[in-house]
Amino acid sequence: MSRQLTLALSKGRIFEETLPLLEAAGIKVTENPEKSRKLILPTTDPDVRVIIVRASDVPTYVQYGAADFGVAGKDVLLEHGGEGLYQPIDLNIAKCRLSVAVPAGFDYASAVRQGARLRVVTKYVKCASEHFAAKGVHVDLIKLYGSMELGPLVGLSDAIVDLVSTGSTLRANNLVEVEHILDISSRLVVNQAALKLKRERLQPILEAFEQASASQAPKAA
Ligand code: ATP
Ligand code: MG
Repeated sequence: MSRQLTLALSKGRIFEETLPLLEAAGIKVTENPEKSRKLILPTTDPDVRVIIVRASDVPTYVQYGAADFGVAGKDVLLEHGGEGLYQPIDLNIAKCRLSVAVPAGFDYASAVRQGARLRVVTKYVKCASEHFAAKGVHVDLIKLYGSMELGPLVGLSDAIVDLVSTGSTLRANNLVEVEHILDISSRLVVNQAALKLKRERLQPILEAFEQASASQAPKAA
């Protein structure tokens, strides 16, 4: 049985915020993906390697077993559906929220109250359609892959559904948050077959991740 473990991460905040968790498991990544063009990075553990993939591709690599485990945002997991994935731990990293935002001055509440048909741009079509369906709001959803903020500014839509953390991108584009749909953080996802077949190698890493992330979580009041 192979002892080799492959961890799928995306560049940027998820990679950066996963490093301390890996270190808690005694593993250091020995190359920086921001500087290297390599897509497969070695670590100080000869049995563990990291692959660098697009954030929204992490669940796919893990689902098909090309990676044994990975770190993905709840937003990405909800859109993917989570098929074939075991999701044991909320890592409490890459925190943000999924929200509805509109141009300052647009009366969202009365548009909704009057049963208007809203045009909404988003990358998160599944979450957005469930949200508006539950509220009984009629929407035309337009899928975009980036820069959602531009949609209402150029007349593509009335509103956006996007991730917000500080709100500075919204403010810079004269948009205001009018509805909070969901709190988002990143989760550890594990391939279900790998969990059984490589349990001996995986278990200590999962435990270290769990402990390290619990110590970062806000304490209950
Ligand atoms: P790409 O930038 O390649 O189009 P992406 O936007 O999904 O893809 P990242 O920006 O690295 O990739 O985001 C990765 C994950 O981090 C998201 O899926 C989400 O869970 C979380 N995230 C995104 N934006 C923020 C933010 N502003 N603050 C905190 N976490 C965020
Ligand atoms: Mg991004």
